[in-house]
Amino acid sequence: MSEKKSILNVTVWNEYRHERNEQACHDVYPDGIHGCIKSFLDPDPTLNVRLAALDDPEQGLPDEVLNSTDVLLWWGHMAHHEVSDALVEKIRDRVYRGKMGLIVLHSGHHSKVFKAVVGTNGNLSWGRDQNEIVWNLLPGHPITAGIPDHFELFEELYCEPFYVPQPDELVFGSWFEDGFIFRSGLCYYRGAGKVFYFQPGHEYDRSFYNPYVRRIIQNAVKWAAPNEIVYPIENGCPCIQYKLNDKFGQ
Ligand code: ZN
Repeated sequence: MSEKKSILNVTVWNEYRHERNEQACHDVYPDGIHGCIKSFLDPDPTLNVRLAALDDPEQGLPDEVLNSTDVLLWWGHMAHHEVSDALVEKIRDRVYRGKMGLIVLHSGHHSKVFKAVVGTNGNLSWGRDQNEIVWNLLPGHPITAGIPDHFELFEELYCEPFYVPQPDELVFGSWFEDGFIFRSGLCYYRGAGKVFYFQPGHEYDRSFYNPYVRRIIQNAVKWAAPNEIVYPIENGCPCIQYKLNDKFGQ
């Protein structure tokens, strides 16, 4: 029997290589992209926010951290291949058993974690940084609370076709200055868990300072939080060894 928790444990995982190795990126995110994200989640007293990075011990997610994480945010780009397959499997299992929500940001579309959890090669087309208009496609959705019908960013071009399964909920769609479009906010239910993919967050742009991007991520953390599941879910196919109709005296 799980109890409804009042505090959500949120872990912001970042590859954290660009910000340490490239001055232009360090200038935008001196505390790392994960540090920036933590800074706008921290004021919420219902969140306990921790940071994790690829070069931390056990790639930032030893069992005691992963197994106490309610919502995992994931930003990666240049080192997807370095992430341990065993860790990816643990993350997928935790999401599928409804223990943890997953939020994948920007170039995380090609991460092992996104590909394994959603079931996709994660491929898309991309191009130069340019003006983007993000359109709110589902104004009644919890993730779009407080977001206007559209807002503008300066971002790396990501465009269709995006070779992902049809999302369960398509929340945002984007137009780019060069005429391309992209499904930029996607919700998936996987197993008993929830996944949100959100396109903004190129390492040289400033999207994680945008108030609407911040609100969307704040909303997504609450949406992705584990549901109150009141029965055990294991990783397997349990054999049924009882008859429900016994209760009818047959
Ligand atoms: Zn990028």
